[in-house]
Amino acid sequence: MAVRDDSGITPIFRAQHQAATAGKVPAPVRVSTDDGELWVRAVPMPGAGVMNSVLSTVHLGDRGVTVVDPGWAGGKAQDAAGNVLRPLDDFLRERGRRLEDVTDVVVTHAHPDHVGGAAEMLRATGARYHLGTVEQRTVDAARTGRSQDDYAVDRHAIGAPDGVLDKYPFPLAKKGLPPFIPRQRPDATVEDGDLLTDHGVTAELGWRAVLTPGHTPGHLCFADDRRKLLVAADHVLPEIFPGIGLGVASLGGNPVKDYLAGLDRLAEFDDYTVIPGHGYCFTGLAARRRETREHVMERAGEVSRVLEWNPEISVWRLAGRLTWSGGWESLADSPMVWSAIRQTMMYRDLVLEGA
Ligand SMILES: [Zn+2]
Repeated sequence: MAVRDDSGITPIFRAQHQAATAGKVPAPVRVSTDDGELWVRAVPMPGAGVMNSVLSTVHLGDRGVTVVDPGWAGGKAQDAAGNVLRPLDDFLRERGRRLEDVTDVVVTHAHPDHVGGAAEMLRATGARYHLGTVEQRTVDAARTGRSQDDYAVDRHAIGAPDGVLDKYPFPLAKKGLPPFIPRQRPDATVEDGDLLTDHGVTAELGWRAVLTPGHTPGHLCFADDRRKLLVAADHVLPEIFPGIGLGVASLGGNPVKDYLAGLDRLAEFDDYTVIPGHGYCFTGLAARRRETREHVMERAGEVSRVLEWNPEISVWRLAGRLTWSGGWESLADSPMVWSAIRQTMMYRDLVLEGA
């Protein structure tokens, strides 16, 4: 069933891999039948390649249905009548369950493609809502506008020419609950090392939370030690490399450093099957961790070469000397400019600290 991929990872389900790499939305796959059925279901979202959908994990247990990352809400994730829950209901009914059977909704991180579908799902089912403790802290910081940011951008200090950054508001300066986050607080917040069963999630799903900050400050993976499965969400992806430092708020520290530490931490699961947030299930986590680290270090190397040549270069000019897909010129004149500058600052710190 498995097909070897030239990147050193091995996709588990041929059809899922073929669809995902052809830019189609893969059909659901059944990952395990050990103590209930564990399914991985792609929810469509706006995006290209493997980012055309987000992988939602659905466990059909004796005492209920647990959904990890409900997925995107709206657009192609809805049925023709605009009902966002109908596709999940159809999926469950084909397997002898129904929407009302959903007892728990678990979210790996507060991004619209993962948590976006949660609010409506919680409303329709009355399920319990579980989010990481640290991620909930970023949600609270966004709500109150009290981000603790080591990479707040001072336009003069970074050497940006007058006026160029005025067009786009600094994204983290916005105060208020992001619209894709459920208004209700989680019924349980999940700490690093917690078992989901400790939070009332059906006993068959003894998943352990693994805190892997970097993509967002409170990003969680879930390890299923019995079935040797790792829900890696957006920490490690096949085909593409995750963005870093993209929380709804910042809690301080250097997300690039955190991200690299998280990659090392996942070594414990190198022989597990990986269920990523986008793309397809695979084995070969060690190889993918290595490639991902190399990608980050390549970027650090680029920053390091510019700094060797000119240690005093401003952040603005440093950013302009790095390689950006699409080019710096168009990036510098887009709302993404803030994220690019912040990333440049994070990488510069990493290099200056001698990583
Ligand atoms: Zn994602």
